[in-house]
Amino acid sequence: MHEIAKRFNSLFGHAPEVVAAAPGRVNLIGEHIDYSDGFVLPFAISDTTTVAMSRRKDGMIRIASAQKSAEIFEFSLDKLAPLTGESWARYALGVLWVLDVDTGVELLIDGRVPLGAGLSSSAALECSIAMAVNHLFQKGMSLQELARATQKAENKYVGVPCGIMDQSVSLMAKSGSALLLDCRDLTTENIPFLIAPQGLELLIIDTQAHHKLVDGGYAERRASCEKAVATLGITSLRDISVADYAARQSELDPTTYIRGFHAVTEMKRVLDAVEALKANNFDRLGDLLNQSHRSLRDDYTVSCPELNLAVDTALDQGAIGARMVGGGFGGSAIALIKTEYVKRCENAIQRAFSEAGFKNPRFFTSLPSDGARVIPS
Ligand code: ADP
Ligand code: MG
Repeated sequence: MHEIAKRFNSLFGHAPEVVAAAPGRVNLIGEHIDYSDGFVLPFAISDTTTVAMSRRKDGMIRIASAQKSAEIFEFSLDKLAPLTGESWARYALGVLWVLDVDTGVELLIDGRVPLGAGLSSSAALECSIAMAVNHLFQKGMSLQELARATQKAENKYVGVPCGIMDQSVSLMAKSGSALLLDCRDLTTENIPFLIAPQGLELLIIDTQAHHKLVDGGYAERRASCEKAVATLGITSLRDISVADYAARQSELDPTTYIRGFHAVTEMKRVLDAVEALKANNFDRLGDLLNQSHRSLRDDYTVSCPELNLAVDTALDQGAIGARMVGGGFGGSAIALIKTEYVKRCENAIQRAFSEAGFKNPRFFTSLPSDGARVIPS
């Protein structure tokens, strides 16, 4: 029996009907453009969130998380309208709400994706539950439909205005590949991303920084992109080339312009990165990662001293490319680096952080892994 099934058994007194898992993700390139109809190129990490679930006949929802002391929270199905408050339970309830679960359920979550590190533990949790519900209630929903539904759960129920990327890659990723995702129509293409044969590794540096700007900062930048679209009278920032955008600078106020400029250049960098990967040109990929970081730092202004120090130190230590990932103002950075330099790079970043008086960073490495799955019992 799967480990989580045993824990479920001791918590709820019987075996679960289904166990499902979904991974966290790292976005290789294409940051802050999922909400502008852009292309993104994330891959799934090997760490997953697992859920064990069973149905109940009494209309009660009983949920627990191993990361929250496995205490059981109880809710009534007929009171499932979006809850206010900060409880982690909203992430799980939102998925049950959006998938119209019409009988009681009990579920236990065990998340091995570090929480709040920019690796999308929230999407891993939502997608593991969505997979379990789709299976258990025989909903027959496609992975695209599940991605839209879980995004809606996070937007409308939890109240986080996230794009569609995290849920899509958590559901659709394939090992050894990055997932080129067109955020406009959710079409995908698996792009080979085989770094091990190149002697390379992807180092993930969790800065452990969480700056306050995180909520307002995101919404404000998203609003700037929408303002650029409305002012220029275009359908989205996807539909304008870098040159055409630059030519219309005078129509936009400086903040709106520079934020939109990040979006249009980042969209081009994603497509260039796909070409680089198809040509096995990892130096070119490294360059594009560096350009992406500079754009996020200087134009979109969503970086922070911890992320910049991690990126600069990794480059000093021989990384061929490095950038902040995720929403910004904290969270994680990635560095594409030769395997033999990884340890030295971690030590140097640790030292630099300690000298700067920053929190102790955490390090992970991961190869591109598979997306969500139901685990056979
Ligand atoms: P990220 O998605 O980058 O990890 P978020 O702030 O979007 O960060 O999501 C983290 C939140 O998701 C946590 O604070 C918690 O509310 C919820 N969450 C994620 N994983 C778990 C888990 N295993 N158990 C309980 N809550 C979880
Ligand atoms: Mg999240």
